[in-house]
Amino acid sequence: MTENESQEIVLKGLGVAPGICIGKAYLVDKEGVNVVKKYYIAEADLHKEEIRFKLAVSRAKQELAAIIQETPKELRQHTAILETHMVLLQDKLLYGQTLDTIQRFRYNAEWALKNVVDELKAIFQNMSEPYFRERGADIVHVSDRIMRNLVGGDAVNIRDIDKRVILVAKDLSPAETSQIQLERIKGLVTDGGGIASHTGIIARTLEIPAVLGLNNATQIIRNDDFIVVDGSAGLLIVHPTEQTLIEYEERAVRYERHRALIARESRMPAKTLDGISIQVMGNIELPEEVVAVRDYGGNGIGLYRTEFQYMGRRGFPTENDLFDKYRDVVEVMTPRPVTIRTLDINGDKALPGQTGNGEANPVLGLRAIRYCLKKPGIFKTQLRAILRAALYGNVRIMFPMISCCEEVRQAKTLLKEAAESLAAEGTEFEYNVDVGIMVEVPSAVAIADMLADEVDFFSIGTNDLIQYALAIDRGNRYVSHMYRPLHPAIIRMIKTVVDVGHQKGIKVYMCGEMAGDPIHLPVLLGLGLDELSMNPQSIPLVKNAIRKLSIKESRAFMYRIFKDKKEGQIESFLKKAYAGVLFDLDIDEDEIAV
Ligand code: PEP
Ligand code: MG
Repeated sequence: MTENESQEIVLKGLGVAPGICIGKAYLVDKEGVNVVKKYYIAEADLHKEEIRFKLAVSRAKQELAAIIQETPKELRQHTAILETHMVLLQDKLLYGQTLDTIQRFRYNAEWALKNVVDELKAIFQNMSEPYFRERGADIVHVSDRIMRNLVGGDAVNIRDIDKRVILVAKDLSPAETSQIQLERIKGLVTDGGGIASHTGIIARTLEIPAVLGLNNATQIIRNDDFIVVDGSAGLLIVHPTEQTLIEYEERAVRYERHRALIARESRMPAKTLDGISIQVMGNIELPEEVVAVRDYGGNGIGLYRTEFQYMGRRGFPTENDLFDKYRDVVEVMTPRPVTIRTLDINGDKALPGQTGNGEANPVLGLRAIRYCLKKPGIFKTQLRAILRAALYGNVRIMFPMISCCEEVRQAKTLLKEAAESLAAEGTEFEYNVDVGIMVEVPSAVAIADMLADEVDFFSIGTNDLIQYALAIDRGNRYVSHMYRPLHPAIIRMIKTVVDVGHQKGIKVYMCGEMAGDPIHLPVLLGLGLDELSMNPQSIPLVKNAIRKLSIKESRAFMYRIFKDKKEGQIESFLKKAYAGVLFDLDIDEDEIAV
């Protein structure tokens, strides 16, 4: 080893699963899938080439089926991802187009598959919504599996690793990640991947520290190198110095102590020091995630993003498909509330080939409620399914991207028509449900008093509210430094919505990402939000922080912020004023000192 190689190197990536681990690196090699040869097939051999491809797909399918079968109990909820991969294996886009490319261009199967996947990858990568970019990654994982079977390479078998290591890979598929044995794998780092990737989701479920999106970690790290993974700060340290090691060992002990404490208390109510209980809810995308919300002590589902049932399939789901999924979630949570948000499709979430219109500004286009009001058939199918599921527990219906009262009235008319059609058929349903809207468009803030007369609750969607109010594309990394939840304009907007809602006698909730970060709590409690909803893993942390705050003090803090007009200082005020609380939450101590 040269002197240079043993110098400490710090890499910054995305901390997708918090915690610290220290240990030896294990590089997961996927030889064979990256170097693809191109050659032409003779006319007479085309059929044989097709069969070769079909056999590789069929072997890939068998491998996935075996992985699903052997998946440990605690990860069962994630086999849905692998089942999606099974469907993708036979999808028209991937399977059909590769066969077509073999026929049309007489390419060998590997080259045909590579061409099709490159095209699909480009389509998904150009989508601004991280979720869809991650689905592009699903296609790559599936094609890697087929490719490995075509070239005859060995499958990466993470289950066979027999020492305590930290996994280092270019990328890990959900299938590979789900083979992780907790007693062997301490943490993981990858060159690719994002916050919304399934690898990240699984790492959070397993509660192993993970840093993704490192770009070139696999080029810097060698097998058996000593590394430190700081999943909370998104840092990877290669060849740590003795000083760094001592520091991280101490941090790891502190983190574990804190985590054990908040986990023990996750089912306790989130009651402030002055005795006010705040409802802490979970956001889910897949019905399976409801279990995590319950286990983390969530008081209900504050946002069920229903788009996901419309994806990864041909055509739209039927009413019964939707009803089954909704009922599952409602039954698990009953008697706690489940807020089902109606379809928020298009904008940056178009279903390829189905719903998009090639709009120049899709985020300002026929998205969410606008799309649903244009397609009453699709909308009513969903509304009927929700009303039927409402029989099984406590359901709220929430309309996304409302910008005027007329949209709410039209949506409610369609809801009434859905109920009437069910009644006319003699199908059982529950109509006595709370109906609310997401406040995520600035015009809705300005007319909050008018909208409050139409609905039972507001839920502030800060992800889009910030995007539309500050004119910052939420998926554009070039302006991400300007995407600021604590911008005074956003705080004033939240204050308006809460004050107006309360004057009108309705509850005001928040379900944007802002609600899941403890640093924002003094502001949100001070403004008087009735309920906060977040990703399930943040629930224990946020509940714990709420117990350390008082509403009275938070209000006084907000009062000072409103009086002091200095823009851009709210974050540093927060850190200074709440250093004691934030320290426990493992916030960087150096940051607090500034
Ligand atoms: C939001 O906009 O804040 C929100 C919760 O909805 P989504 O992230 O699904 O757009
Ligand atoms: Mg939104």
